[in-house]
Amino acid sequence: MKIDIFGMFVHEIAASIQPYGLPKFRAEQIAKWIYQHGVDDFENMTNLSKDHRVLLAEHFVIHTALAQAIEKSTDGKTSKYLLRFHDGMAVETVLMRQPYGNSVCVSTQVGCAMGCVFCASTLNGITRNLTAGEILAQVLYVNKLLQQEQAHVNTIVIMGSGEPLANYNHVVKFMRVIHADYCLNISYRSITLSTSGLVPEIDQLANEGLPVTLSISLHAPNNEIRSELMPINNRYPLVEVMAAANRYAQQTGRQVTYEYILIADVNDQAQHAKQLATLMRGRLANVNLIPVNSVIERGLLRPSNKQVQLFEQILLERKINVTVRREMGSDILAACGQLRHKVLNEINID
Ligand code: SAH
Repeated sequence: MKIDIFGMFVHEIAASIQPYGLPKFRAEQIAKWIYQHGVDDFENMTNLSKDHRVLLAEHFVIHTALAQAIEKSTDGKTSKYLLRFHDGMAVETVLMRQPYGNSVCVSTQVGCAMGCVFCASTLNGITRNLTAGEILAQVLYVNKLLQQEQAHVNTIVIMGSGEPLANYNHVVKFMRVIHADYCLNISYRSITLSTSGLVPEIDQLANEGLPVTLSISLHAPNNEIRSELMPINNRYPLVEVMAAANRYAQQTGRQVTYEYILIADVNDQAQHAKQLATLMRGRLANVNLIPVNSVIERGLLRPSNKQVQLFEQILLERKINVTVRREMGSDILAACGQLRHKVLNEINID
């Protein structure tokens, strides 16, 4: 069996090639070929000798990702890719061309086990975790496309399908590799990790020494509503999640973002805004309001623009940092799991 080197740290590549007589410094050259130049064939690594290239191809492979479906928003700013891995499994990756740079949203699991009622990723449960290499392959796929227009990936949001903290080791490894100078050298501050609120892993991440931005999917101003929307709230109730987020903010000095999906008549009323404001008071945090992308299967509806404004106003009056998420790609089903779910329904790929 050939060994897949995609997703390895440079020291791991060095350890893998050493038994075949390749000196250590070759590992750095190989890493740059696969990560910075998007080369997935040893034959094209022209600064290696012909003998080494043949030897490497005999013992190693470079598994990346292939596009199985692509959709572009009408304004051209958002592109969504259904990317397929070696074993035929596919996940969604989204490129958002923002005013401040190119942002890529990556998935961390095939499907999701969390069972949030508003989320399409979890409709068929979880199939498997992605490896660090498979998460990395999503960013590098988009980066390679951007290179053709002399651009590159600027920021990463770990907000695609899956619960990143339920796939902790692979996600942390992914962040360390993408940050390395033989890879894309993306600063930790340019990475945002979104979680439904796994308390022990939030604490573990705080002690990891990676100052990434943490985003908490709160979505409700009290336990009653949150438990209805997110089963995880029965295990880690809202106040415990917020306490962990505070510890994260203190440890890393990073402001935490709270995501709050607005669902008509469920959590979008004035009383909910007031309750949310009380929860947020005095925290190093900001609130991101997201009018829900309706998931037909779940019958949840988006509030009117007026209701969204009213909700925002109540928070602003109470001096809470709040933004309403810019609508990007809603015409191409850019909400979690929606493209994959549509393709699964249409062509039945798994
Ligand atoms: N499991 C992680 C990351 C993936 S979900 C988490 O829960 O944070 C990324 C974000 O998309 C979360 O805030 C999630 O609540 C949100 N999301 C899921 N379904 C959505 C929908 N139908 N409309 C709007 N946002 C949605």
